[in-house]
Amino acid sequence: MKLPDIKILDEKDKTLRMISKEIEFPLNQEEIQLINNALDYLEISQIEEYRSKYDLRAGMGLSFIQLGLPKRIFVISEEIEENKFKRYVVINPKIISRSEELIYVGEGEGCLSVNREVEGIVPRHARITVEAYDENGNLYEIRVREDMAVAFQHEIDHLNGILFIDHIDENNPYKNRHLMREI
Ligand code: ZN
Repeated sequence: MKLPDIKILDEKDKTLRMISKEIEFPLNQEEIQLINNALDYLEISQIEEYRSKYDLRAGMGLSFIQLGLPKRIFVISEEIEENKFKRYVVINPKIISRSEELIYVGEGEGCLSVNREVEGIVPRHARITVEAYDENGNLYEIRVREDMAVAFQHEIDHLNGILFIDHIDENNPYKNRHLMREI
């Protein structure tokens, strides 16, 4: 597999702080190409052989703003079995329900735009239901839980100019941990 030519912005880039705008349908060629490139990139990054060949960090989600485009769209590639992936294209998403239960990723959240170790935990809802459009403009509803719920909330944050590090209190990076479940 060939690595797509995309450039992922680093956290220091102020573009990442923009609020992305809703997308109109039909998508244009550039948008369709970028969706495919981002998904290919994520899958390549999750396959060990390619990850070392191209010297990448593994990632499962990317939002358009990380590629420099302030549009409300993100993609996720979930490894469902070894080197087999399920693709999600999420456009103009709205969270329509959230569980009260909170979780956090024990080993810490990661982001392809944050190229350093960050200590601390990020509270996320254990389950959320999201309404969104697919690449053909069809409205759908999806309920996600556990690591996928974290991924969706992480990416939706990107659309609002928020990075996971914003949720971590530097002086108390494990604040309220006892109130949440580790995943
Ligand atoms: Zn991210």
